[in-house]
Amino acid sequence: MRGYPISRRLFAKACRHLPGGVSSPVRAFRSVGSPDPARPGGGHPLFIARGKGSRLWDADGNRYLDYVLSWGPLILGHAHPDVVRAVTAAARKGTSYGAPTEVELELAALVQRAVPSMELVRFVNSGTEATMSALRLARAYTKRDLILKFDGCYHGHADGLLVKAGSGATTLGVPDSPGVPSATAQLTLQASYNDLNQVEALFARHGPNIAAVIVEPIAANMGVVLPADGFLAGLRALTRRHGTLLIFDEVLTGFRVALGGAQELYDIRPDLTCLGKIIGGGLPVGAYGGRKEIMEWIAPAGPVYQAGTLSGNPLAMSAGLATLRRLRAAGFYAELDRRAARLYDGLREAARAAGVPIQPARVGSLLGFFFADRPVIDYASAKSADTKRFAAFFWAMLEAGVYIAPSQFEALFVSSAHTTREIDQTIEAAAGAFRRAARTRG
Ligand code: PMP
Repeated sequence: MRGYPISRRLFAKACRHLPGGVSSPVRAFRSVGSPDPARPGGGHPLFIARGKGSRLWDADGNRYLDYVLSWGPLILGHAHPDVVRAVTAAARKGTSYGAPTEVELELAALVQRAVPSMELVRFVNSGTEATMSALRLARAYTKRDLILKFDGCYHGHADGLLVKAGSGATTLGVPDSPGVPSATAQLTLQASYNDLNQVEALFARHGPNIAAVIVEPIAANMGVVLPADGFLAGLRALTRRHGTLLIFDEVLTGFRVALGGAQELYDIRPDLTCLGKIIGGGLPVGAYGGRKEIMEWIAPAGPVYQAGTLSGNPLAMSAGLATLRRLRAAGFYAELDRRAARLYDGLREAARAAGVPIQPARVGSLLGFFFADRPVIDYASAKSADTKRFAAFFWAMLEAGVYIAPSQFEALFVSSAHTTREIDQTIEAAAGAFRRAARTRG
């Protein structure tokens, strides 16, 4: 058995300084309990000491293959030499100036080339800031107040978006947070992911007041749920017809599923796009952008206020630039796809062999599976997944040295640092973990 005494001790200490011992909720491992069945609920997270490539070491010196990758940003793996070099070189020249730099315009130009719908780009510091700002802009531009989001999609923690939200809100069972004024929540219409009929009905009732539809083009915060055929195209057609802006939240899918994100894969041009994660190469970044005519409403070009002391921070811009340059190499995504496909096929086969029904999904190096016996197409079906089974699987994987997100409702990510051999080791670990899961039922 691996031991985690240092992590346990650090967590006890952290709880005296940080609410719940962490800086972001899902990290606390609450939904997976404890590795020790005699102490359910007595779990604690791993404290991480360092990462390199596909690997992570915890404070107790245990080594893991990492499929969390900081929740998506590290598509090149931990401490990629190009990123480390770029960040250290930037740091030597000063960490922040609060003034324009050449590196931010280079990054913006690269983003635009990859995602042509982003005719102008504004950098912010997180995905939350990106979606929050994009919605303010959409409301100003359309002179409308309502927004429409999909149940189980997570767009960060801005007030109006914490309505039936995925990610930690789902993991912890608090998809609607106290502290969100009801007047704000009332401006958020909700529909089921993949249900165009519901969206049509909402437009029939509220069409002239809907500023924006915001969607994860591939939902990945209630587990991974793919858009049904015609769903995204249907949203595009409906929004266009009603003068509503279509916002793709590609914080997670951007540069992950393809260089041009989900909008390239599905060939849909949204009005606005939100980015984060990979464009910061592991440093805090977000961005939003879209049609020039809309983006020119942002201050100082226009009247919509949005600002940031550290926005366009040179360390973050340098890390992002170093990362994106790598992604543009010929064959990068094809090779990543090949490795992720190997993992996906291996996991499916391992589950089948163990007699555990799963509902898997994959787009490139973004993948996930539900412990469920019926197809998962939306939030309601995602929530039917067996979280006890997931917890058993999670601990068995951890014990075998594989670190996946401590929640049924998060995705797995593969990086270019994961070798075929490591993927095969992961599949072997999963074979045992599925057998363990087979003996557990929720
Ligand atoms: N949108 C999506 C689709 C996300 O996955 C996330 C974070 N997981 C966010 C927005 C929020 O980003 P951040 O955590 O950087 O605020």
